[in-house]
Amino acid sequence: MSQRITILPETLTNKIAAGEVVERPASVIKELIENSLDAGATEISVEITAGGRRLIRVSDNGSGMSREDALLSLERHATSKIRVDSDLDKIMTLGFRGEALPSIASVSRFSLATREGGSPEGTEIIVEGGRVRDVRACGMAPGTVIAVEQIFFNLPPRLKFMKSAETETGHVADVIARMAVSRPDVAFSCTSDGRELLRLQRSDLQRRLAQVVGRESSQHLYPVKSEDDYAAITGFISAPALIRSGTQAIYTYINGRFIRDKVVQHAVMQAYRGVIDRGRYPVVALFIELPPGEVDVNVHPTKHEVRFRRQSVVHDAIQASVEGVLRSSPWLAAPAPSQHPTPNAATTQTYRERIAAAAQASLTLPPRPQYRTQPAERIVTASAAPLVSPPDTISVSEPVVSFQPEQTPPEPAGYFSSLSIIGQFHSEYILCQSDCELVVIDQHAASERVAYQLLKQQSQSGGIESQRLLFPETVELSFSEVAVAARFSPELAGIGFELEPFGGTTILVSAVPRLAVDHDPILLIRDILADLERFGTSAAFNDALEGLLSRIACHSVIRGPHPLESRQIKELLRRMDQTDFAASCPHGRPVSHVVTLAELQKIFKRT
Ligand code: ADP
Ligand code: MG
Repeated sequence: MSQRITILPETLTNKIAAGEVVERPASVIKELIENSLDAGATEISVEITAGGRRLIRVSDNGSGMSREDALLSLERHATSKIRVDSDLDKIMTLGFRGEALPSIASVSRFSLATREGGSPEGTEIIVEGGRVRDVRACGMAPGTVIAVEQIFFNLPPRLKFMKSAETETGHVADVIARMAVSRPDVAFSCTSDGRELLRLQRSDLQRRLAQVVGRESSQHLYPVKSEDDYAAITGFISAPALIRSGTQAIYTYINGRFIRDKVVQHAVMQAYRGVIDRGRYPVVALFIELPPGEVDVNVHPTKHEVRFRRQSVVHDAIQASVEGVLRSSPWLAAPAPSQHPTPNAATTQTYRERIAAAAQASLTLPPRPQYRTQPAERIVTASAAPLVSPPDTISVSEPVVSFQPEQTPPEPAGYFSSLSIIGQFHSEYILCQSDCELVVIDQHAASERVAYQLLKQQSQSGGIESQRLLFPETVELSFSEVAVAARFSPELAGIGFELEPFGGTTILVSAVPRLAVDHDPILLIRDILADLERFGTSAAFNDALEGLLSRIACHSVIRGPHPLESRQIKELLRRMDQTDFAASCPHGRPVSHVVTLAELQKIFKRT
């Protein structure tokens, strides 16, 4: 009988393992920094050349290793971090698989120099493509220095997958930033081709975040802190004004380990639903602490993914803690001027400009110099001495609003209705005029906002208005979507949908929300069920409600250019006046934008 099966030599198995752990220079750096942090380092410096393709060097001031340990560390499955089976259930270190060093050493020219604190000298080990070439004593400061040269020199297919030096450098910086956010108590630095890429001093989380996400962005961050018996969640989340187009600024950590997890991300985005636009992402740094037995990090060699024992509990805890901050935050009460240009919000500057313009026109203004210190007097004098000469449309009773927000009555009703309509631009924007302002309204965003508000009011007072379809329609779904439809059937009726099982994977739709009846309600139902399914069976319908209403609102308005008659524009403006723009809105997109006369004059160099 022939024997065709052999056990592979270790150099080859290491190379195979490297395929999983070592994807690119950034993944090498991630593994090496994890080791440095596990070794208790307080200073970690990284050096790369050619995006790490030529050289990666990571130095730390951690515990270092003895000569014996240093040699062992290069063996597969050699680790100091776990010993027995049961240790797997309570991993508190970043590493535990004992795979990184041998894997990296098998696909590069590798050197490890390390010295324990109490030892008179260090040990240097030179490895080439997984084979130890030399072991010698060396002089060095306590700690460890690992150099990885010519990564993938013996793995040509991998080499081909590497991107340009700039791209790889970008990945390296991202990886360091992620780890640096998790450990503000550790100093990090990185040079690329001799130039300093990052220098992060030891500090606290807020300052570290400012260094990583940018100082200006960091001013829009709000602290999160919630704790129960099960999970503790801390960190910072951004105001809706601070958004990114991808998830790159969402830093989430489970027990100190950076993870990219669908459940966690979904929980965060769910909390932001109704606050920021779809396809936009917040800036978030969230640290979720769970009992170690509640989370399995041994899912993938890179340890970016985890599995939760009680997934929905974790999901809901994260969502609740983020929502808690979002709901009680200042932007809801005082929307940013650029987002909600209501008369008083948009125009602090405008009024100053008006006054300046008026002064330029050598008008006799009421005694002004005191107004900053005596606002009350200004109210009286200003309204008592209205301006008469050009620009004669200036109403001086308004300006006081912006100087004295706390004492003024709520903004006058009917701002939008009071605008005079100029017309429609590109069948997408409504142009209006008010005094010295050109007001541009995004008709789609505005309609959606109005619809959302209406739906919210209806849902708070009894239920969403529903409309029966003339001919009930059938919809084909997946099994799990049918199950969701059945499970939430009474709740779905409350938001205007009448659905019943029709056998197999088909449901029968006999009524939909009235607002959405003209706009492909079947697509809406698919979206709604997909939302509910994604949201998970554990979650209460009510938690998803805002998102669902936002979904219906989105489906109730016409996308893309659409000519409007003047009566339709008037009606929209009227409805906008009834809409509370300060409350959370389906999308954080601005609805209108004000261009001041002064801005135009500047453009045309008239000033
Ligand atoms: P793991 O981190 O999963 O244990 P590695 O292959 O990354 O596996 O490292 C093997 C072992 O080498 C570690 O368990 C640790 O004892 C030691 N080691 C690696 N890097 C360092 C370092 N920078 N400082 C001190 N010890 C280290
Ligand atoms: Mg490791």
